[in-house]
Amino acid sequence: MTEPAQSAPATDASLLDAVREQAHAGLPATIADLSRLVRIPSVSWPAFDQSQVQRSAEAVVELATSTGLFDDVRIVRSAESGGADDADSATGEPSLGQPAVLATRGARDGRPTVMLYAHHDVQPQGDDALWETPPFEPTLRGERLYGRGAADDKAGVVTHIAALRVLRAVLGDDPDLGIVLFVEGEEEAGSRSFATFLREQHDALAADVIIVADSDNWSTEVPAITATLRGNVTFKLTVSTLEHASHSGMFGGAAPDAMIPMARLLASFHAPDGQPAVEGLRSYDGPVPERSTDQLAAEAAFLPGVQPVGTGPVLGRMWYQPSITVTGMDIPSVANASNTLLPTVSARVSVRVAPGQSAREAFDAIDRHVRSNVPFGAHVTISDLDTGDGFLVDTRGWAVQEARTAMREGWGAEPVEQGIGGSIPFVSDLAQQFPDAQILITGVEDPDTRAHSPNESLHLGVLHRGITAEAILLVRLALRDQG
Ligand SMILES: [Zn+2]
Repeated sequence: MTEPAQSAPATDASLLDAVREQAHAGLPATIADLSRLVRIPSVSWPAFDQSQVQRSAEAVVELATSTGLFDDVRIVRSAESGGADDADSATGEPSLGQPAVLATRGARDGRPTVMLYAHHDVQPQGDDALWETPPFEPTLRGERLYGRGAADDKAGVVTHIAALRVLRAVLGDDPDLGIVLFVEGEEEAGSRSFATFLREQHDALAADVIIVADSDNWSTEVPAITATLRGNVTFKLTVSTLEHASHSGMFGGAAPDAMIPMARLLASFHAPDGQPAVEGLRSYDGPVPERSTDQLAAEAAFLPGVQPVGTGPVLGRMWYQPSITVTGMDIPSVANASNTLLPTVSARVSVRVAPGQSAREAFDAIDRHVRSNVPFGAHVTISDLDTGDGFLVDTRGWAVQEARTAMREGWGAEPVEQGIGGSIPFVSDLAQQFPDAQILITGVEDPDTRAHSPNESLHLGVLHRGITAEAILLVRLALRDQG
């Protein structure tokens, strides 16, 4: 066995020059397109003005049409909203999913088809007082463009548009590459009709390579390919010992309250060093860049003297190992505490699952652990279960090698393969619907982007390099012989 090549052969020098020139020349128009999108407050949460999401979809249709590359451009809504609470309260009719933009052109002559994914909806602006500039008025300060959605993910939308314009300028208006542009309108509301939408539009969306532009980079100078995502399992854990509360002075010492078995059960989830101790929860084994525990302590704002938990490299703990956290409990408040033995208590448990292990398998392991570790014969129930699978890119695939070359040429720096400790559930939906597609998770965010927070911003140098790299990748795919 030989090691897989680290990257594909370099791009032809004159093509590369042409791409770089066009990417640079198109930048002012792209920033203007982005500014126009940011001015539309397309918050997809049900409590917000949904006509703005429609307006922003219409603006994306205009952008897609302007590339001159698509046979068909339209707004599509899933027939199902995916959320039971989403029915129209006036008519009782189930409402439709949010407007997505779908633009397609067919592949020819054995060339691959690429799907370009981004989303045009945004998070609410949150507390206006915390914004230094108006959230829906794009504002340039230094090298950064500020505004809600300026990065997440309207920058992803315009990166695809700009890269397509470069492709057309370099290879002409009739390339053999198949292209699907899919710009979702409800990612920030949980992509609730996403799986249904993928099934309904399966044939229109089918692609060999999927480029998701909704993630971040290692720094403003170094690109990243997001290669792993953790999955998640959350549930409500209830422990009960008594049919009703009793006086703790009368019965304490002989009758078990529910809190002590709950505490012991929760404590059993970890070894003394903080490493998860649930048999059957797996870890992924992969290399990680160096990060010191001091840097971790600074970034996560540890109090003085507090030690990190877990074992192994710091980033490996956050990217490749499972973690178990208790994020809430239903118990009497301290102010309302009376001298009684608590008959029942509940906790919300949040588990991050290592990439490569299914959320269902991880849940089964935790379920077994809970049932065999609860003391005093206390009754346990698990309810409100929510699971999302993680994701593991096969980085030996040819599309990753192509992307690595394109990023090196577009950024002038070797890309870092990174994991994400959080979950992007729609990525596993994509992988499930299109098991043969190679999925590349990229984006134009950087560590200072503050997506979802006040003062969200996009670094314009990252935008420029991201567009250049994606355009190089599209040109390479357009010239790639599948046979
Ligand atoms: Zn996003």
